[in-house]
Amino acid sequence: MAFGAMQDWSMRISHVIDHAAREASGREIVTHWADGTETRTDWAGIHLDARKMAQALLALGLTKGDRVASLAMNHSRHLVSWFGVAGMGGVLHTCNPRLFEDQLEYIVNHAEDKVMIYDAAFQPIIDKMRDKWPTVEHYICFDSGEHTTSFEDWIGEQDGEFEWVEGDERDPCMICYTSGTTGNPKGVQYEHRSTLLHAMAGLQTSAFNFSGSSVMLPVVPMFHAASWGLPYSGAMAGIKFVFSAVNDPAVLCDLMDREGVTDSAGVPTVWLATFQYCDAEGKDLPKLKSATIGGSAAPRFMIERLMKNGTRVQHAWGMTETSPIGTVGGPTANWDELTFEEKVEKTMKQGRPIFGVELRTVDLDDRSTVLPRDGEASGALQIRGPWIIKRYFKAEEDATDADGWFDTGDVAILHPDGTMQITDRTKDVIKSGGEWISSVELENAAVGHPAVAEAAAIGMPHPKWDERPVLFVVRKSGAECNAEDVTAFLTDKVAKWWLPDAVEFVDDIPHTATGKISKKDLRERFSDYTLG
Ligand code: AMP
Repeated sequence: MAFGAMQDWSMRISHVIDHAAREASGREIVTHWADGTETRTDWAGIHLDARKMAQALLALGLTKGDRVASLAMNHSRHLVSWFGVAGMGGVLHTCNPRLFEDQLEYIVNHAEDKVMIYDAAFQPIIDKMRDKWPTVEHYICFDSGEHTTSFEDWIGEQDGEFEWVEGDERDPCMICYTSGTTGNPKGVQYEHRSTLLHAMAGLQTSAFNFSGSSVMLPVVPMFHAASWGLPYSGAMAGIKFVFSAVNDPAVLCDLMDREGVTDSAGVPTVWLATFQYCDAEGKDLPKLKSATIGGSAAPRFMIERLMKNGTRVQHAWGMTETSPIGTVGGPTANWDELTFEEKVEKTMKQGRPIFGVELRTVDLDDRSTVLPRDGEASGALQIRGPWIIKRYFKAEEDATDADGWFDTGDVAILHPDGTMQITDRTKDVIKSGGEWISSVELENAAVGHPAVAEAAAIGMPHPKWDERPVLFVVRKSGAECNAEDVTAFLTDKVAKWWLPDAVEFVDDIPHTATGKISKKDLRERFSDYTLG
């Protein structure tokens, strides 16, 4: 006999939007559209439109578990579909428009998407891909277009009198494909429960640190790892959202100023572009209280720049497979006693695990010996927790070991205070004379040189040492520097035996669809390279 019990409350996404509409109904959702116009709605409006959308999807004949694709930037209608698709029991497949054609072909077919909802700006992609996507039965345009049904007209036929489709909390609600630097992209399917837990974890003060007064402009795209879960966490906290369907720094800075944006999040390149614009225009971001940087390592000057602006820097690490938040940086013990330089040093590391996930590092060679958390041992980073992948979409085998550990492909050091420091990717780390050299640390040090815009280090075959680092550098436009300058600059920043054997200047460095340096493409480009 039970002596007491707590209630059943299925962890479904519908609770999130119901809560936002009930508790923060009038909190605004602002969108700056690609054509320059701006619209305002609120959580009550998103709630109503999401119910209409769920009705409209059912009217198209979709059933539970069907996949609905989006090819869209950040805006309120995309937000509606996050809740509308999950609310009819469907799975939203957010496609990255920057993927190559063959990748876009692959992911839509692999996911067997039935509906494609897209921004008018991506009409050329749609026109090219349509014949290659046999499973897609319906095309809907988020903007009003001449030839396709517009989103507003489509949902406008419904009345919104709708009860969310019930289901199990382990049902899928979203699917995101990894950018896949090798082989085909892999689908990571998020569940209602994992999404809810992840979003709640994002509310920890050591994560996004939202309050009712937060005004968030997420620059991280909604198609990249669920926009780091921000739309869900933001709905839970009832914050105001400001979306921009264009990533122009002038528009972003203007919006931040006009709408009183206190929080933002994006990859380092976004912050770089924003600050270049600010410097050129003599502007600052006085209202910005918190900036989350993730997706790639945040360079020192960017952290310094934000901190001087009085902004709390939340340097976060994660991946599509981890929903994506794994660790987030923020004030540590005795923060106020630290010097500015010490704070910058700490913030350059990737922060601490948020509650819910566990991290460990294992030996890079044997992949099983667990390494000490001593701030020195560097090993393969593994993670487990309720919002970490267990198995890729349609895969035969689990992506984890028997104990649930997922190998991230990153190389990291765990520090005694819980801080995690990414030192490389397991595929990119350079092995010289049996010792490891971090390509990322070399790159980060090199971009501190005033004439260096971007740098990438790769290991080149060497007869004696196995591999030696070569640094590829893109100069800032109009700036001058030669190989000796760069090497001299690095001398007091990395160990002597880490110094690159050669520094080569290039016009550009290849990037992946998510804006990360593609070492694979760089290696291919220089496959004939020999160390002289
Ligand atoms: P994606 O699944 O495309 O988001 O890529 C995930 C990968 O991005 C991770 O495995 C890391 O290699 C890298 N990454 C993400 N955040 C950071 C960070 N803050 N510092 C360094 N690398 C990062």
